[in-house]
Amino acid sequence: MNKQKHWYDYLWLWSIAFFVLGFFNILFAWLGMLDFGLPLLFALFGGNKFFCNNLCGRGQLFSLLGGRFGLSRGKPAPRWLSSKWFRYGFLVFFLAMFGNMLFQTYLVGAGASSLRESIKLFWTFRLPWDWAYTAGTVPAWVAQFSFGFYSLMLTSLLIGLIAMVLFRPRTWCSFCPMGSMTQGICKLKRLGKD
Ligand code: SF4
Repeated sequence: MNKQKHWYDYLWLWSIAFFVLGFFNILFAWLGMLDFGLPLLFALFGGNKFFCNNLCGRGQLFSLLGGRFGLSRGKPAPRWLSSKWFRYGFLVFFLAMFGNMLFQTYLVGAGASSLRESIKLFWTFRLPWDWAYTAGTVPAWVAQFSFGFYSLMLTSLLIGLIAMVLFRPRTWCSFCPMGSMTQGICKLKRLGKD
């Protein structure tokens, strides 16, 4: 029997739309903060992973591409990828990169650095992206945040896609920083109740 479809089963479309919108206008990258804030809010106030299980467009996209479209080899991932040290190590690294991105935003806002209209992939390769922003539309720091955040989102998507192709469709979920954070919060909440 077919499972009844809900509106939120189509959130993979949002995941694609985010990157398409940011390709044309980088300021749309701010919308990605929803994907950062909502999982934390569900974990903090609901004590559950409702977001991961139902509302995550990225997870759905990996399931779709890797599952229905057969773009995944479907092999089990090496165990270290889901080990605690790797998950939390990756989380710390990711948060450090997020912090660095905020610091760059601050420098631009303070006038100590100039706006870079580019995307940085894998925290290393800089790609020009200047067509997606018209100088002066918003304060420079607002645009800098957009470029930095979009870089982070695109890099993590690409890592997830590589993991999807090499292993199972949702391998990214086993070390996704948002997943690790929400899981940690849910565990702490459960401990607090015991
Ligand atoms: S672990 Fe990450 S990618 Fe996977 S469903 Fe949760 S938030 Fe989405």
